[in-house]
Formats: sequence, structure tokens, C-alpha cells
Amino acid sequence: MPEGQPVRWTPDRSPKLPAWPVPRMADALRRGAMGTCPACGKSRLFAKFLRIKAECAECHAPLGLARADDAPPYFTIVVVGHLIVPAMLVVEKAWAPDLWIHAAIWLPLTVALAVGLLQPIKGMTVGAMTSLGMLTVEGPG
Ligand SMILES: [Zn+2]
Repeated sequence: MPEGQPVRWTPDRSPKLPAWPVPRMADALRRGAMGTCPACGKSRLFAKFLRIKAECAECHAPLGLARADDAPPYFTIVVVGHLIVPAMLVVEKAWAPDLWIHAAIWLPLTVALAVGLLQPIKGMTVGAMTSLGMLTVEGPG
């Protein structure tokens, strides 16, 4: 740079890429639903039924930083409600069974669907967060 020229400072706007692979949204959702690491798909996502591992054993993505909070139960309630309530209405309109028969069908089915869908939906939520770059302490930059 020639002497006497003003120096123009520009901030560093280059994207800060994480040390782990950032998956496409479709891949992250599929891997999360399967219970595998959304970033690489090679190791297990869950340490327990709903406890996310702190870090992927393969790609070292900090999966434990994904704060899914109430989103997985919320999405589970939405999905199960949209399956059970219309089915209940169809059965009532078609056969009008006694209330104890409704209870015997829909209560166990609701519990089974909710328990069965909670882990895949939590995996998909963590997958979406991984794809969106939300695995940071300070949030997306
Ligand atoms: Zn991984």
C-alpha cells in the first residue's frame, strides 16, 4: 500500500464454520428421526430415552448444546392430536360406541403414540437445530 493512502478497515464478515459437519435440513431431520447424530449420522444421538449425548463420538458435534426445551413435546402433542381426534370423530360418527369403548381405544393409543413419537420428534428437533447452526453457547452468529 502506497505511503499516505488512508487505510480502510473492514470487519471480518467471513462465515465462521464449525469444526463439525453441518448437514442439509433433510439429512439432519432424517438422521435425528433415526436417533443418530444429525451432523454425521454415524453414532447414537441419545444417551437415554430423551437425554442427548453431550458430544458425538464420531464427529465431535456438541449435540448437548441443542436446547430443544419444550419443542419436542409440543410437536408430539400437535401430531398425536391431529391423528387421534379425527379418528375418534370418524368412529363416533360411524358407530357411536359407548364411552367406555372410546376410552378403551383412544387412551392407550394416545399414550402409545405420544411415547413412541417423542424420541424421533426430539431427534428431528435437534437435527433441525444442528442444520440451522444452533449448536453454540451464544446462539447463531
Ligand atoms: Zn456426529
